[in-house]
Amino acid sequence: MQKIALVVKKPWFLGSLVVIFVSVILWNIPIEKRKYGLSQSGLVTDYTGLLPERIERVVKAENRSDLQRIVKQANVNGQQIAIAGLQHSQGGHTYYKNGIVLDMRTFNRVLEIDEQQKTVRVEAGATWEDVQEAIQPVGLALKVTQSQSIFTIGGSLSVNAHGRDIRFGSMAETVKAMTIITPEGDIKTVTRDDPDEWMKYIFGGYGLFGVIVDVTVEVTENNLYTIQTEKLQIGAYASYFDRLLNDQNTAMHYARVSVAPNSFLDEMYVINYQQTEKRDYTTALKKEQSVRLTKLALDFGRHGGALENLFWGTQKRYIASIDGKEITRNNAMRSESTFM
Ligand SMILES: Cc1cc2nc3c(=O)[nH]c(=O)nc-3n(C[C@H](O)[C@H](O)[C@H](O)COP(=O)(O)OP(=O)(O)OC[C@H]3O[C@@H](n4cnc5c(N)ncnc54)[C@H](O)[C@@H]3O)c2cc1C
Repeated sequence: MQKIALVVKKPWFLGSLVVIFVSVILWNIPIEKRKYGLSQSGLVTDYTGLLPERIERVVKAENRSDLQRIVKQANVNGQQIAIAGLQHSQGGHTYYKNGIVLDMRTFNRVLEIDEQQKTVRVEAGATWEDVQEAIQPVGLALKVTQSQSIFTIGGSLSVNAHGRDIRFGSMAETVKAMTIITPEGDIKTVTRDDPDEWMKYIFGGYGLFGVIVDVTVEVTENNLYTIQTEKLQIGAYASYFDRLLNDQNTAMHYARVSVAPNSFLDEMYVINYQQTEKRDYTTALKKEQSVRLTKLALDFGRHGGALENLFWGTQKRYIASIDGKEITRNNAMRSESTFM
């Protein structure tokens, strides 16, 4: 008995208990392996499961003529078609009651990489990640994507997405040409010079003006950047950002504003990606990591009050810790998302 009491008091024993306790908590954090939101019991939802809509059916086309046939047939039957990429657009507004949902995931090939012209032709149901995997080995990177690369090309252009790049404008501006299927079921290749200005309608058109089948996007060098981080007061941000725009050395930028009670809409931090002019061919594309730990921290923060202050403090420490580190352009465009 005395021996046990002695062991229990040892620091290594208490340390082991803490490690086991934390491991059990981390292990039990549910990391959702979400089902794709298509057609569960005749309902369709976005990826998060918000606002399900009852639909008639989900269709998948095997090739372009199949796709054309589906659109033409829907016209004949007077049915509405909604288009689904990876369904991350939230709110259920992208689906029609009793409509047909066109699942674009079969159109997921990277068709052509032109290293000289720095362009990639890719099908609309492919993700930015698919493109990154194809172009990283030849030292190329995307010009504009969202912070994550988990979205489809068609879904991203249809919501007119933007990214962290402060030089190349919106994602839509990087598109040189597209193949679309018009609402009547005609296949068209459209460019910037198109007199009918299809691109103007399709970008940000939420799939209302036709189906994007493939897209030719401009890409750029996969350069190595140095991360530079700074803490700011919100009032100083507007002039800070103006200065940044004039500093051609900064390629990408984003900022996070505090919503924690102690520094609510007062503190913020900025993260800049500074050019090194070194092109990278070898650094692997980063994978999701520390998912459980990040989810635990986020879940604590969601409780508000002191826990949210603690979460903000942890974020600030993390951001300060990456100051001066190097990252490739491709990796700066593929932040973690599973913890959400
Ligand atoms: C974690 C997270 C981070 C995000 N970060 C950013 C960000 O940094 N910047 C930003 O701008 N946005 C951001 N978003 C929003 C995101 O860009 C959009 O939700 C985007 O639409 C997701 O693509 P998707 O493939 O899931 O599209 P879906 O949700 O499947 O579709 C979106 C719309 O596009 C239409 N559509 C899909 N495919 C086609 C097609 N082939 N032809 C015609 N229409 C089509 C659909 O009908 C729908 O109306 C973020 C979202 C999440 C969840």
